[in-house]
Amino acid sequence: MELQLQPLNLPSDQERAFIIAGPCSAEKEEQVMTTAKQLAGKGCHIFRAGVWKPRTKPGGFEGHGEPALLWMKQVKEETGMLTATEVATPEHIELALKYGIDILWIGARTTANPFAVQAIADALKGTDVTVLVKNPVNPDLELWIGALLRINGAGIQKLGAIHRGFSSYEKKLYRNEPMWQIPIELKRRLPHLPVVCDPSHISGRRDLIAPLCQQALDLGLDGLIVESHCDPDKAWSDASQQVTPEVLDFIVSRLIFRDKAEHSDKLKDLRHEIDELDDALIELLARRMKICRNIGEYKKDKGLTVVQTRRYSEILDKRGAQGSLLGIGRECIKNIFENIHEESVRQQMEIINK
Ligand code: PEP
Ligand code: MN
Repeated sequence: MELQLQPLNLPSDQERAFIIAGPCSAEKEEQVMTTAKQLAGKGCHIFRAGVWKPRTKPGGFEGHGEPALLWMKQVKEETGMLTATEVATPEHIELALKYGIDILWIGARTTANPFAVQAIADALKGTDVTVLVKNPVNPDLELWIGALLRINGAGIQKLGAIHRGFSSYEKKLYRNEPMWQIPIELKRRLPHLPVVCDPSHISGRRDLIAPLCQQALDLGLDGLIVESHCDPDKAWSDASQQVTPEVLDFIVSRLIFRDKAEHSDKLKDLRHEIDELDDALIELLARRMKICRNIGEYKKDKGLTVVQTRRYSEILDKRGAQGSLLGIGRECIKNIFENIHEESVRQQMEIINK
């Protein structure tokens, strides 16, 4: 599976990552223009604002629609920033393009619905606009990739993804769990696709935006989209996760933008060492499995059960403790041994049922 991509060529101060900023919603002309001018003054090049807002329950502010697009146009004319907004239907696309919006993003709720994504893809045919696809609300990488394929299949080549975290029933530290392994796997599967992190919707809290931005950059993501409002506490949506342009500028000024190039000899040497250790690890695992199969034969002979829970708990406890003494998290060791155990049970079952 390949995407046909062209570079996004988005402007950025920071050579290696671009930053999109602006309020969750376009509320009033004055709020939009004030925020945009403050952001432009801090060197921001791309302005976001929601013009149509997908709200969980009816009764919330659902966006002004077309009148707000006029303010976005004004932002572009008066500040020179590019503009970005969320679209969810073919009508949204038609209107957004009519007002010269440069970047369209597909929201998390929309990405989860292949009918809606296909309708959007059909409406995008023949246009050359930049499209960013947010991950679906549920942690389903294939659904996310499916949406990207639909949009790309419509001929959109200036395409990227936005990682905004995944919703869960149990609310923990984050509003939406980052589950970093998913955007990382997306990058592995589609190496040329730019991936942008949305720390505002992941965290739901302004104090967590800075560390999430740094984490995203450290993991090699390509850009950030951050909610910024001239008066965050008075925002009509997502108030708790927005920061002023001034605070955003402070956050960005402290970020470390790392080099993604993989050219140094030192790095090559270290990776070579890792490869050798990985070889040895697999070799050892294979030897361990062989013994497990011998045990399987023995259990079959003696009519014993495959899973002997006392022995299994003993392994998890003992190795968990050993791992933590050596600086490896107990949970990590537990997960590794659970996987190893699962495979040896599978192999022993095969033997017993032969
Ligand atoms: C937004 O960007 O304001 C938004 C509604 O995001 P999401 O689709 O990620 O919830
Ligand atoms: Mn929002």
